[in-house]
Parts: sequence; structure tokens; C-alpha cells
Amino acid sequence: MAAASGLRLESLAATFAGAHAISGVSLHVEPGEVVALLGANGAGKTTTLRTISRLHPIASGEVYLGDTSISALSADQIARRGVAHVPEGRRLYGTMTVQENLEMGLFPVWGRGPLDLGPAFELFPELERLRGRAAYSLSGGEQQMVAIARALLPKPVIVMMDEPSLGLAPVIVDRIIDTIGVLKERGVGVLLVEQDTEVALACADRGYVLANGHVTFEGTAADLQGSQLLKDSYLGL
Ligand code: ATP
Repeated sequence: MAAASGLRLESLAATFAGAHAISGVSLHVEPGEVVALLGANGAGKTTTLRTISRLHPIASGEVYLGDTSISALSADQIARRGVAHVPEGRRLYGTMTVQENLEMGLFPVWGRGPLDLGPAFELFPELERLRGRAAYSLSGGEQQMVAIARALLPKPVIVMMDEPSLGLAPVIVDRIIDTIGVLKERGVGVLLVEQDTEVALACADRGYVLANGHVTFEGTAADLQGSQLLKDSYLGL
């Protein structure tokens, strides 16, 4: 897809029925960097990702990919620019097969050549034998693999993941952490929302803490590790 580009938010705000869910959120993710977005329930993490993807409208502020503003683009245009979103709860097409779900993931590059699902099966080999199964019949871990593979197939430059480890067995969580490592090696920027701070800090280079829709702390993974503010944020203080 596009050459490697960073993602940058400048004072992003989003509302629900006029009330601010996030406000003044500024952050950046460089190519090959893993950035954690942390905070308590309701802090605004999911809304931040959905606003970047334009699944939720921007109330004010700007989103840049490299030097180009992508604030005026639609959700499908943003995907075509190489910003992928692995949503909270996976959001697979339940009655469609694994293969069909993966093919849907290639929509940003439809028309640019044959649909090559090979990279999905290289990443998660077990998906190959599951390719004819309906998505709803898979385990949570298998579903998360499909959701991640689906997002990665068009070779995005930025990948946003919303709670990828939620409810999954440690062995699957380790595979997700490994996958994030592979993305980093390939120069992809990753914006990772995680409730499990241990998982987030195991793979993040830097992180931001959100509280009540505002960035209250930013720093390296080491800064965050010992941060009282991070602990307070999770307690909703
Ligand atoms: P969680 O970890 O629980 O998903 P979060 O940090 O992702 O939390 P958001 O889901 O982004 O937080 O919520 C941010 C704020 O927006 C909260 O105050 C929440 O109540 C509000 N909000 C989120 N979705 C809606 C909605 N559909 N309608 C109204 N308010 C909403």
C-alpha cells in the first residue's frame, strides 16, 4: 500500500449527543512504533480509535497520515489510505466463512489484483483448515486471529487494535503480542488499546493515558510502568 507514514492527532474531539467523549486528544504513532492507549472504562479509548477510522464523526481537531490531513475522508477512504482497525469485539461477519471474512478485509485493495489470502495463513496457519467454517462457530481466539488477519491483509501502514487480548487464553495473547512484534519489524505503526497494562507494556514503545476523554500522561513504556498516574487512571481517580 502507501509508503510508511505516521499517524498524528491534533486536538481531536468527538461527542455523543453534544457531550464530549474525547477532547483535545493529541498523539502520534511513528512507522515501526507500538503506542499504547491506556485508561479506565469510559475514558475514551474506543471513541478515539473509532473517530480516527471515521466510524464516529470528528467534532473538532485534525487527523494526519504523514503530512496529509485525512480528517475529511470517509471510513472506506481511510482504510484505502492504509489505516486498519481491529475493532473491540472483533465484529466478524458471523454467518460468513473465514475465507469470506478474509476476502472482505481485502476491500481496500479490491480491483488491484487477485485476492491473495496467503499472508493470513502464513500469520495464523490454523486459519487455513478453518477457511470453510462460519465465523460464529469459531472459538474467541480463532475469531480474534481472523479479525487481525482480515485487517492486515491489505498491508496497512497503521494498525489500530482495540482490546485484542480481551477474554483470550494466555497462549493466544502471546501470539497476538508476537504479531504486534512482526508488524513493528515491518515498519507498521501500531496504536494499541489494552485494558491489560501488562500486555500493553510488554509490546509498547510509548504510551498515553486517557482519563475522562483527555490525555493526562504520556511517556515511554518505562515511564508508564511505574506511573502512579496510570494506576490512578485505572481506578478512575
Ligand atoms: P471501554 O474500555 O469501557 O470500552 P473506553 O475508554 O473505550 O472504555 P469509550 O467507549 O470511548 O471509552 O467511551 C467514552 C465516553 O463516551 C464514555 O463516557 C461513554 O459513556 C461515552 N459513550 C461511548 N459510546 C457511547 C454511545 N454509543 N452513546 C453515548 N455515549 C457513549
